[in-house]
Amino acid sequence: MFISPITVGCRTRCCRNAHSFPSVHFDGESRIFGFLGHTPRSDHPRRPKMRVLITGGAGFIGSHLAGDLLDLGHTVDVIDDLSTGSMDNIQHLTDNPNFSVEIDTIANVEKLEKMVAKVDLVYHLAAAVGVQLVVERPLYTIEANIMGTKYVLEACDKYKTKVVIASTSEVFGKSLDVPFREDGDVLLGPTTCSRWSYAASKMVDEFLALAFYQERKLPAIVVRLFNTVGPKQTGRYGMVIPNFVRQALEGESITVFGDGTQSRCFCHVEDVCRALVAIVDKDEAYGQVYNLGTTEEVTINDLATRVIALSGSTSEIKYVPFAEAYSADFEDIARRKPDNTKIGNLLGWAPQNNLDQILTAVIDHERSKQPN
Ligand code: UDP
Repeated sequence: MFISPITVGCRTRCCRNAHSFPSVHFDGESRIFGFLGHTPRSDHPRRPKMRVLITGGAGFIGSHLAGDLLDLGHTVDVIDDLSTGSMDNIQHLTDNPNFSVEIDTIANVEKLEKMVAKVDLVYHLAAAVGVQLVVERPLYTIEANIMGTKYVLEACDKYKTKVVIASTSEVFGKSLDVPFREDGDVLLGPTTCSRWSYAASKMVDEFLALAFYQERKLPAIVVRLFNTVGPKQTGRYGMVIPNFVRQALEGESITVFGDGTQSRCFCHVEDVCRALVAIVDKDEAYGQVYNLGTTEEVTINDLATRVIALSGSTSEIKYVPFAEAYSADFEDIARRKPDNTKIGNLLGWAPQNNLDQILTAVIDHERSKQPN
């Protein structure tokens, strides 16, 4: 489906077209910033306001991040082609004069460059998401991830604009070296299993970002996002928590794929966004890779049981073979758990929401959407 580009929201800032390096907008306060751009302290009461571009800003994480940045007084531009994102995620932001959204693809390089030229910082979140989508559309996944990231890095490089590249815990693949450290080895399956195209393409994204940092002095940070969840996440692309909660509330069977002994760590999107906001202020983070996720581990069996209990559902668990859920060649990841020491030490960051709190929030949110 072709969606013609539109612009929503309006602008009040007079400096929106100006760009020079360092490229932060000052609100009545002048400061000298470090080599890799500006280092405003997040806890400073008069922190300079920035203009920020979020690619994929109509997605689940991007829209939360946009809201948080606006709350902090920053100006936020979003570019999103709505391939997996949704206007519903950002509708509540469109009245804010400091918010604007362009419905377009980042493959529109001319537009992307113009947008990057206006901002102080870019969060690159636009990517193919969801195991289901990746398995069904590997070609789209590979192109969207690799070409998209290359376009973003090239545009940022032109203005030496700070950029955060969102990578994924998928890059660790089925490594048995749990918990996963950023400098640990990765272990991917064969190329005949399309799932791994996602991990491989995001690894290329990471290599690209680090190469731009090394060879072009582009201030880039790579953040490996582990399973990120919370209210408003859609189950359309196969994510487990929104699926289980919907099934529980509708009294359907809870579909556990495989034998349910595989485990994950689910981090609240609020905690993830808090770290994403804070990390850009750290000079030492540029040129580095960080895990971002919680260490509270749960098996999918236990997750299903907890969703049933917390929602008071009468649903039963139904086991579905991976071959039926995804594809005949599908390989799942038995355990995925981050070592989050590196980002914890950098930011003094730790997740504030545990799994039961997250599940309760998701259940409450889904319930509030149901007709009485
Ligand atoms: N899963 C499941 N039932 C579902 C959706 C997912 O059992 O309806 C499993 C999936 O096979 C995986 C885990 O839940 O082992 C997490 O899946 P998700 O797609 O949320 O994220 P992943 O960690 O696989 O990227």
